[in-house]
Amino acid sequence: MSEILRIDDLVVNYGGIEALRSVSVNVGKAESVLLVGANGAGKSTLINTIIGLVQPRAGKVWFDGADITAMPCAERGRIGIGYSPEGRRIFNSLTVEENIMAGSFGIPAREAARNLDWIMDTFPIVKERRKQPANQMSGGQQQIVAIARAVICMPKLLLLDEPFLGLAPVWIGQVGQVIRGLQARGTAILMTEQMARPALKLVERAYVLRSGEIRRSGPVEAIREVALAEEYL
Ligand code: ATP
Repeated sequence: MSEILRIDDLVVNYGGIEALRSVSVNVGKAESVLLVGANGAGKSTLINTIIGLVQPRAGKVWFDGADITAMPCAERGRIGIGYSPEGRRIFNSLTVEENIMAGSFGIPAREAARNLDWIMDTFPIVKERRKQPANQMSGGQQQIVAIARAVICMPKLLLLDEPFLGLAPVWIGQVGQVIRGLQARGTAILMTEQMARPALKLVERAYVLRSGEIRRSGPVEAIREVALAEEYL
C-alpha cells in the first residue's frame, strides 16, 4: 500500500520538555490508523506538528510523497490535510451550516456546495439541523459538525484529535458512523484517542504512544490488549 503520510524520527521540545522523542508513524492511502495514549503522552503535539502549528526540532513529515516539514500551516489544508481539533472548537454564534462552510476557505464556492450536499446526504443530522445555532447542539452533534467542517474540502487525509472526548456512548456510536462514512469514500484517517475501545473498532492499525515515544505498533488484532491497558494509565 502506498503512503499518504509518513513521519520520520520526529522530535518536538517545548522548552526543556521533550514532548516527542524520535516518533515514526505512517498512514497508507485510504487506511485508518489509531494513535492511543494517556493524557500528556504527546498525541496533540503529533497532530499539531502534522498540520504545521508546531515546528519539530528534528525529523521529517512527508505527505503524498512530498516533504512538508517546513510548509506553512495554511498551505497544508490546501494540499489535502483536514483537521478536527480536540474539544471541537466550533463557533457558537454560527449555524451548523455556517460552521461547516467556515472550513471551505480556499476552494471554489461551487465545489464547497457540492461537498456540502455529499455531507448532508451522508450525515442526515447535518441536513436536519443546518439552520440551527451550533450552541444549541449536544456535544456529540457538535463533534459531527466539527468533523464535517474538517472534510468540507474533501481532504485526502483527515486528522481527528480525540473525537470521542466527553461524549455519551450513544454519540460515540454516531460519531463512529460518520467516520465509517468517510472511510467508505476513501479518506485516510489518523485518529488519536485515550478511549481505545471504541476507536479500535474503526481502524486497521494502531500505535501506542507513551511519554513521547512509540512503545508498540501493529495491526489491531496484535495490539488490542496493550492498547486497552493504556486507557487505565
Ligand atoms: P491530552 O490528551 O492531555 O491533550 P496529549 O497526549 O495530546 O494529551 P500533548 O498535549 O501533546 O499530549 O502534550 C505532551 C507533553 O507536552 C505534555 O507533557 C504537555 O504538558 C507538554 N505540552 C503540550 N503543549 C505544551 C506547550 N504549549 N508548552 C509546554 N509544554 C507543552
